[in-house]
Amino acid sequence: MSSLREECGVFGIFGHKDAANLTYLGLYALQHRGQESAGIAISDGCELSVMKDLGMVSEVFDPETLYSLKGDRSIGHVRYSTTGSNNVVNAQPLVITYAKGKLALAHNGNLVNADDLKRQLEASGSVFQGTTDSEVIANLIARLGKNSIEEALVECMKRLKGAYSLALMTENELIAVRDPNGIRPLCLGKLEGAYVIASETCALDTIGATYVRDVKAGEILVINEKGLRSIITPPGKRKACVFEFIYFARPDSRIDGKSVYMVRSCFGRQLAREHPVKADLVMPIPDSGISAAIGYYLESGIEYGEGFMKNRYVGRTFIQPKQKDRDFGISLKLNAIREVLEGKSVVCIDDSIVRGTTMGKIVSKLKKAGAKEVHVRITSPPYKNPCFYGIDTPDGAKLIAQNLNVEEIRQKIGADSLGYLSLDGMLECIGLPKDNFCTACFTGEYPIKVPEQTKIDKYTLEE
Ligand code: AMP
Repeated sequence: MSSLREECGVFGIFGHKDAANLTYLGLYALQHRGQESAGIAISDGCELSVMKDLGMVSEVFDPETLYSLKGDRSIGHVRYSTTGSNNVVNAQPLVITYAKGKLALAHNGNLVNADDLKRQLEASGSVFQGTTDSEVIANLIARLGKNSIEEALVECMKRLKGAYSLALMTENELIAVRDPNGIRPLCLGKLEGAYVIASETCALDTIGATYVRDVKAGEILVINEKGLRSIITPPGKRKACVFEFIYFARPDSRIDGKSVYMVRSCFGRQLAREHPVKADLVMPIPDSGISAAIGYYLESGIEYGEGFMKNRYVGRTFIQPKQKDRDFGISLKLNAIREVLEGKSVVCIDDSIVRGTTMGKIVSKLKKAGAKEVHVRITSPPYKNPCFYGIDTPDGAKLIAQNLNVEEIRQKIGADSLGYLSLDGMLECIGLPKDNFCTACFTGEYPIKVPEQTKIDKYTLEE
């Protein structure tokens, strides 16, 4: 399957006259989950239409376009894709017409058996326009949808393997679906009698909605004029993505009742206990290291400061598809403040080292700006294995921790010391049963078997 690299945000609302505006705001709050395309599908109960394009939420929608989106129910999507799959055909929500009418779909996550399913569907006559596994889900629902959409979904879930948090909409219903392992987050809220679903609670807060609960693993929530109905399909072993807590989710979100901010702050405290160091200053790599750096400062008592100023108008550096652009992106994004750093020994906190590109540049920038010593502390264990469940990661060979040990990484990035948070220490900070998490990126234990072909395909299209 081609576009196996997605980090997305989904949103949905049912029964509010301002559905389009609220979806726009919800997507704005989820912009960190994907910046390459944005879209809204809307229905007034009769007509279902969609507006989507490449770009950030603010680029895709202007006041006139938003005004033209009429209806009281809608779903939205923000998407990140890499080379090869970055075209408008793959933007979501995806809208298909099938025997029962129209179906709009917004997907966060990644299937591991999309290729197989696609081949089967093609053999029985389905035609695909784009290259996303989300299209496979839509086609499968259409195929199975002889009776009700719920029945189709229950059947469909038996065949899908991988991670999927879905917002679906027909002319009459809004439907939320979460895979049996609950890998990607999805929550339910209420606003003035309207139901809201969102990838993260920060989107509920933004529109003033009240958080009701997280959608359960294996749950289908059907929302229509009659209210809300929950269908529980057999759940698998709970395996929430731990990287949502480490990096991906916004710190002001809550996942499974846990504040991402408080968890990250605890990561910092735990890091200070596991890897103490004598230093003059603790500083975060903005923004991903901020909550943890505060935790490290609180635990160690070392002064907290900002050694870097971030240019707020630059997107995530990782998002640049080509290495050259990514290097350039780091300089564009972060500028060291000599007055803060000169002559100091600093502890520099970030969430992860993936390829090592960012941290190598950061250490050299800090030293150039006069830092005497740079001690790097990372709020997760060494990142050794690619993710196949919806988080963008490079090919294993490009993961620095797959090839080098901690001391070799320290040398490579030019730091005076390097400390990674232990797996146990990290999971303890979250405060939920440790076995509830997918930690494959650190341990290589993939909770859902990844077919060999899927591993190969993930990277071939990108080449
Ligand atoms: P690298 O330069 O490849 O080592 O990237 C590490 C940096 O990218 C860290 O500062 C992280 O905050 C950030 N990061 C880690 N994982 C991801 C991801 N899946 N998508 C975007 N950024 C990420």
